[in-house]
Amino acid sequence: MLIAIKPDAKPAEIEAVRDRVTGLGYDPRVMRWFRRTVIGAAGNHLSADATRMLRSMVSVEDVFPIEKRYQLGSRDFQPQDSVVRIGGHPVGGGHFQIIAGPCAIEERWQIRRSAEDVMRAGIRILRGGAFKPRTSPYDFQGLGEEGLDLLAEVKAELGIAIVTEVLGADQVPAVARVADALQIGARNCQNYHLLAAAAQAGRPVLLKRGMGATVEEWLGAAEYLLVNGCTDVVLCERGIRTFENATRSTLDVGAVALAKAETHLPVIVDPSHAAGRRDLVEPLARAGIAAGADGLIIEAHPMPQVARCDAAQQIPTSDFAQLVSNLRPLIDAMGKRLV
Ligand code: PEP
Ligand code: MN
Repeated sequence: MLIAIKPDAKPAEIEAVRDRVTGLGYDPRVMRWFRRTVIGAAGNHLSADATRMLRSMVSVEDVFPIEKRYQLGSRDFQPQDSVVRIGGHPVGGGHFQIIAGPCAIEERWQIRRSAEDVMRAGIRILRGGAFKPRTSPYDFQGLGEEGLDLLAEVKAELGIAIVTEVLGADQVPAVARVADALQIGARNCQNYHLLAAAAQAGRPVLLKRGMGATVEEWLGAAEYLLVNGCTDVVLCERGIRTFENATRSTLDVGAVALAKAETHLPVIVDPSHAAGRRDLVEPLARAGIAAGADGLIIEAHPMPQVARCDAAQQIPTSDFAQLVSNLRPLIDAMGKRLV
């Protein structure tokens, strides 16, 4: 259940509501939602009598008897789409964004050229990992802090917004200094300690679905961000692990449609990590758009053949403008604005 408190409620009145909820056998949590106080609790079915009683309290604006595990993120609580701004660029609510850039930041020229090329294609948000979660410890782990400095340089010189991954709670302050949105990768989708730390950074968070996470687990992970004070959450479907290994992951377009139906959060698609090969990126991007996605995050590198990670799936940045113009008619047909 969620209880929206009136904006002018006094602290003692909020306490009184909290006590009533506790008295009903719940373990309530007091949260902030867009400068409003909301009291949330999970548990048993809320009886009609109890709902009426809570609604009659002077400081209560409304009671939402939601029984799902995700509540703040659900359309039962907020029917209209959330619009998340990344460096001022809107995603959701009819606004479509394509985030593009290399898998990893490798060198100054590489990230700079990536930014220039994708900006020429109309892209406003650059991706690139400074901290890379690699399957093997012998593989390139990213430039770390040096990578963040290179991102900061590009951002200052070109004015492009930045999305970059945070791997651990200890990295949150450093990443948040540069990033306009923090990326939580698939491997950390259910790292609840990291989710809580990232939520408190005061930046939007792009949450990838874990490769073994159900939609409910993914939305539950998003709820951790919302409960911990981050109202700007973007969901990202990037493919899940199935018996099929001809593609790197199986892009779950059903999950995109479902997440759009169940939550008010923007949902974007990462066709690059789903495909694992560059020739499939455009068709999977189309599938994501057609399923209702609010955006895409696509890997692109100025020289993919020498990329230090995910070389096979990165699009040459020089081809990016063509890719965007190929996708634009479908984005338009879905009634979304790519600005
Ligand atoms: C990435 O975006 O670079 C990445 C590591 O993706 P994922 O977490 O989806 O594997
Ligand atoms: Mn990658």
